[in-house]
Amino acid sequence: MTDNYGRTIDYLRLSVTDLCNYRCRYCMPEEGVCKQSHNAILRVEECEEIARAAVACGVKKIRLTGGEPLVRQGILEICRRLRAIDGLEELCLTTNGSLLRELAKPLRDAGVDRLNISVDTLRPDRFTQITRRGVLADVLAGIRAAEEAGFQNLKLDTVLIGGFNDDEIGDFLALTVEHPWEVRLIELMPMGPCAEWEEGCFLPGTVVLERYPALKAVDTQGVTRRYRLPGAQGTVGLISPVSHNFCGDCRRIRVTADGKLKGCLHAREEISLRGLHGAALEEAIRRGILQKPRQHRLKEDGSETHRTMNQIGG
Ligand code: SAM
Ligand code: SF4
Repeated sequence: MTDNYGRTIDYLRLSVTDLCNYRCRYCMPEEGVCKQSHNAILRVEECEEIARAAVACGVKKIRLTGGEPLVRQGILEICRRLRAIDGLEELCLTTNGSLLRELAKPLRDAGVDRLNISVDTLRPDRFTQITRRGVLADVLAGIRAAEEAGFQNLKLDTVLIGGFNDDEIGDFLALTVEHPWEVRLIELMPMGPCAEWEEGCFLPGTVVLERYPALKAVDTQGVTRRYRLPGAQGTVGLISPVSHNFCGDCRRIRVTADGKLKGCLHAREEISLRGLHGAALEEAIRRGILQKPRQHRLKEDGSETHRTMNQIGG
């Protein structure tokens, strides 16, 4: 379906939980999520019903996210049910990778086509520091398990944080020489716990190009500008939601773990999908697409949403 600004909307990011086994400092408060709001989480049947309605409205790709989608009970059942939807071309999942050692193969068998794995640092001590509890070795084992399970074109997502991991940009780029992965460096967005962090933490993606002029532009895929180092097997993606407004190319809608449709990550407007079925559900999704704002005003006004990333589904 086309929105009011001529954009084709064919990509749904569906958050299946707001819970997470990590507490990344920029994403979640240390104490975790409020149990009361967690009770309102979509049931497996509701996830399927919303996904079916979205596909009927023109969605071709669904990404499951969270919170951490792999801590969600019934995640494999959700994957199986979504994969069986006629007209859905791609089922993807974004994960912190911590549970992939056990779950990569079952996810593949449940029909997941592609995985994005988030890893913000390649140094074990820093990893535990930024996630407040994670162990880097688990994620690295998860990446290996994903490859062994047959996932190809893995994407590794790294949020660039000035003063924390910008001295590791070269290490991340080096991964693409050895592996056929897309390593994506993402600008930190000032929202939730990091909204008040000092300015130096927020680096524009252009620092990567300034520091590594050997990177050659390849193409643009959606909101990602892709580059390659000479002779590298993989690519480097730059995602710059703050410095480079890419809203004109945005094809996404989002559904939060408690069933609210959002046309934009940063918008305050939400449409509750719970309790809606059939034509009424599809009508609500179409309304949400038509209400999708032209662009966010992150740079000028900050994020308007009251939610943290784990609630919306990053
Ligand atoms: N738990 C899963 C994970 O970490 O991949 C999925 C959910 S997480 C919210 C999705 C992505 O959002 C992660 O790559 C995370 O680093 C990113 N993210 C969270 N807060 C962010 C922020 N303020 N700016 C940019 N990216 C952010
Ligand atoms: Fe959890 Fe992902 Fe947020 Fe980190 S970024 S706290 S892994 S939801």
